[in-house]
Amino acid sequence: ELQAEIIAVGTELLLGQIANTNAQWLSEQLANQGVNTYHHTVVGDNLQRVRETFEMAQKRSNIVIVTGGLGPTEDDLTREAFQQLSTIPLVEHEPSMCKIRAYFEKQQAVMTPNNPKQARVFEGATVWMNPVGMAPGMKLTYDGCTWVFLPGVPKEMKALVREYMIPSIQKLLGKKEIIKSVLLKFTGIGESKLEHELQDIIHEQTNPTIAPLAQEEGIVIRLTAKSDSLQKADQLLQETKVKIFSRVGQYAYGEDHETLEGKVVDLLLAKQYTVAAAESLTGGAFAEKITTVPGSSNVFQGSMVTYTNTAKQNTLHVPKEILETNGAVSEECAEAMAKQAAAKFSSTIGIAFTGVAGPTEMEGKLVGTVYISIYNDNGTFVTRKFLFPGDRNAIRRKTVLKGFELLYQ
Ligand code: ATP
Ligand code: MG
Repeated sequence: ELQAEIIAVGTELLLGQIANTNAQWLSEQLANQGVNTYHHTVVGDNLQRVRETFEMAQKRSNIVIVTGGLGPTEDDLTREAFQQLSTIPLVEHEPSMCKIRAYFEKQQAVMTPNNPKQARVFEGATVWMNPVGMAPGMKLTYDGCTWVFLPGVPKEMKALVREYMIPSIQKLLGKKEIIKSVLLKFTGIGESKLEHELQDIIHEQTNPTIAPLAQEEGIVIRLTAKSDSLQKADQLLQETKVKIFSRVGQYAYGEDHETLEGKVVDLLLAKQYTVAAAESLTGGAFAEKITTVPGSSNVFQGSMVTYTNTAKQNTLHVPKEILETNGAVSEECAEAMAKQAAAKFSSTIGIAFTGVAGPTEMEGKLVGTVYISIYNDNGTFVTRKFLFPGDRNAIRRKTVLKGFELLYQ
């Protein structure tokens, strides 16, 4: 039986500057392979303490995964510490050295004497070339224990784990198992309603597993299938997708890396619509989000941030009577803003956001009160009132998300 231990090296972890997300993610990957993790250790950038941590791990675990401390700087001590323990010599890894040289040539920068350090690997180790960074990963066996060394940068660490570590653990376990996941994304349905609709399927199903994830960007379900062939895994995923969509398919908008804002852009493009925004409490966050979509310039005209009443009145011509009688946080104001946004930018659709982000009440309206209005130049409005829970940022985030949801309908 494999007894795994994960060691994260870095003083910043002990200072609380960053969370040890590497260990959490690695544990999840190991658990997916049926490997038990018995210890998570965090140790600072101190040679003696790192070495002592390694000695302890060597005694009590038979697979040890170390992240961090492989970089070029003085405080990156992972190599030195393991060398003191194992006495395995460090040698230069020519392919890594080439990569480092090529990098500096391309940047037309001068290599400092410590850069080649990243190309030093333990003699006899299997070296995993880093597809997204400089420091390679390493795997070696020392005195009956498998050691894996990975860079600390999460993106680099994950790339090496997916490409090399998981397959090598599967080999170690004598498994030939394919694991394939797909993310299904939903909008316009709450998490509890979705779970309720799928309750029995979620409970009965073991392969693929169905995991609802609470994500910032809405409701996501992860399906994970295991099989001995990719084809079979795909088939299992497909069958379950059909089952799920027969219940809640009308709320699904995409898979994996697809985003709601991307889908909204696609939809508006297909309808040959253009959109412009008038933003109050979101302060431009709608514009920020839609412009993350490549090609959004084909549909998105622009956004006006009109934060104060004066700005609403002067630039968007929201009538004074509305601001004085109904207030800025009102259906009437939202509609005036939406219509003006469309007019100012000559777009088919205008969307407006106005509300109370908090922390204090405004115009006698509760924190979280938000109006979103969508004006269509055929003369119709869709205007909705919401009461979002959470703090200022949560309310602003939810407002933008809801705006995309409404545009998608
Ligand atoms: P590099 O070769 O890029 O210098 P490294 O192997 O030396 O990588 P570190 O210098 O220890 O790695 O960490 C690089 C960065 O990666 C840190 O600043 C931190 O942002 C992130 N990081 C390191 N360890 C962890 C961890 N356990 N969990 C999450 N993030 C981490
Ligand atoms: Mg470093």
